[in-house]
Amino acid sequence: MAGRNHLFIPGPTNAPHEVLSAMHVAMEDHRSPIFPNLFKPILADLKKVFRTEAGQCFVFPATGTAGWEIALTNCLNPGDKVLIYRFGQFAHLWMEAARKLGFDVEMHEVEWGKGIPLDALEARLKDDKNHEIKAVLATHNETSTGVTSDIKGVRKAMDAANHPALLFVDGVSSIASIEFRLDDWGVDGAISGSQKGFMLPAGAAILAFSQKALAMIDSSSYPRSFFSLKDQMNANKDGYTPYTPSTPMLHGLRKALELLLEEGMDNVYARHHRLGEGVRRAVAAWGLSICAQPGFESDTVTAIVVPADKDARDVISTAFKKYNISLGAGLTEVAGKVFRIGHIGDMNDVSLLGAIAGVEMAMLDNGFNIKPGSGVAAAIEYYRSTAN
Ligand code: PLP
Repeated sequence: MAGRNHLFIPGPTNAPHEVLSAMHVAMEDHRSPIFPNLFKPILADLKKVFRTEAGQCFVFPATGTAGWEIALTNCLNPGDKVLIYRFGQFAHLWMEAARKLGFDVEMHEVEWGKGIPLDALEARLKDDKNHEIKAVLATHNETSTGVTSDIKGVRKAMDAANHPALLFVDGVSSIASIEFRLDDWGVDGAISGSQKGFMLPAGAAILAFSQKALAMIDSSSYPRSFFSLKDQMNANKDGYTPYTPSTPMLHGLRKALELLLEEGMDNVYARHHRLGEGVRRAVAAWGLSICAQPGFESDTVTAIVVPADKDARDVISTAFKKYNISLGAGLTEVAGKVFRIGHIGDMNDVSLLGAIAGVEMAMLDNGFNIKPGSGVAAAIEYYRSTAN
């Protein structure tokens, strides 16, 4: 098909031209004396994205899924109790990973569309008088439902219960796009991946840990090898890695960090908020609803609920085959019920208007009762009136 494919899935996201160009490099010697000139500033600049001065950042040749495992197996002991609220597919998968790794998982079901229930969390932690719960696993942005949880509120609930558990946060689809603050929010382990807010291909797990979490490594007897934070720390202190890094990925990350920091993290958050709000206005103009309940709306991905007599998979299929745009599918419990528009990473008003127009065409083709142009008009009005 002529013209470009338009990627509106919530990861992998569109990689900016500058990032792709930066990755187009010859292979190089990762043990050379100049390699630290590339890697050390990356580790330093990552701290500005994770908003930490006290913590430490890591890059593993892996993906976000590995990040879950790295946090659990480096800072906890086999059989430790971990607490998780399941409100979407990624919280579900993290729970499954913890179970498979032999942790004692306490899971509470939450209606999909909502996030972590702060009152219930505080009550449960207050109840845990013997401090059996060793970590709270919090999904910041549940990509499957387009729900954002209040991580600052999670920390507040933990402090109100005076509970010493570690706070691990899955920020795979939030970090580098919506507000995240490791130090201020008292996060002990933050997990992200290269293919979303960092605007890179998949293949790097990008992480940050608090000193409290890193201090737990010495007392953790969990077996680990490739995912050892200690091995990374030993190599990273001199600007190297314990095994062969993907050097093109690091060059891409170098450029992505430059782009993010040049824009300024607060501006990055504000841009994503505007983008998300425009999509929400379009959905409202179509007379449809989103999966996220009020107060939980994500600024990086919107899951749009289709009427009961429609199948969201038809919209996705038409959009791809006829209009060459990729939308996110509904996963497991919401398969066929929602389709998702990703508005994360290298995105602006006009690009996103392409998604809104394409979705509108695909819905009309599938007999949705919507007014042609209504979503586009609502988004245009919002973007025009809020543009700088
Ligand atoms: N957590 C969240 C919130 C995600 O959206 C994803 C992937 O989409 C993951 C974890 C898993 O990351 P990966 O596919 O990089 O392993």
